[in-house]
Amino acid sequence: MVDTEIIAKASARFLACGMGDASSKIFEGSAVVQSGKCSFVWSEYEPKPSSPLRSTVLGLELCKLTYNILRKYEEASMEVARRHVVTPALEMVVEANTLLSGLGFENTGLAAAHSIHNGFTILEKKIKPHQYHGELVTFGTIVQLVLENRDLDTIVDYMRWAHKVGLPINLSELGLEGVSDEELWKVAEKVVALGETIHNEPFGVTAEMVFNAIKVADSIERRVAKLYPRELYD
Ligand SMILES: [Zn+2]
Repeated sequence: MVDTEIIAKASARFLACGMGDASSKIFEGSAVVQSGKCSFVWSEYEPKPSSPLRSTVLGLELCKLTYNILRKYEEASMEVARRHVVTPALEMVVEANTLLSGLGFENTGLAAAHSIHNGFTILEKKIKPHQYHGELVTFGTIVQLVLENRDLDTIVDYMRWAHKVGLPINLSELGLEGVSDEELWKVAEKVVALGETIHNEPFGVTAEMVFNAIKVADSIERRVAKLYPRELYD
């Protein structure tokens, strides 16, 4: 049960962060389906199952539906969130961010994007201003797309969408302008730690691959950010 009156009164940044977090599910869920790994709900219930309970068809469809709603109503919902009112567009995005995204990822799973989020938490004290879960997951999704060797159109399209919502898409926008390669290497090592969901990707992932993908993602993002400037949350 979610009271959209309360959501509407909050800063629009929180809605944007929910959208960033929910937007990763189609990419992470697809990776889990492709690799045939255990679904999230089953891995939580039994970490080392003898026969993995795989994702459901409905789980992946819910991830797709979530993303379709986020793509259709991103501007309308952010506009109303800035005005602190409730409209059907806001209600649809709230349903996508919570119910659809929740059921979707539980019945498929998480992959690289959330591990990349976890890796960046080691720089928490350095990141200024503080970035919320959904903001780091948005960047994690971009790095996942690079890691998966997706075509440039798909990557740029996702970045444009994120910027329309107001979400950060590069290290500078994440408050990490001066981050060193040494620090990024530590992030990459945490990203591939044992038990991280990045190992749900349908191929083996090393710290070096993650480090390189972060560098490539950041350099594409800086160019995209100039062409399609970031909207302000409020
Ligand atoms: Zn999340």
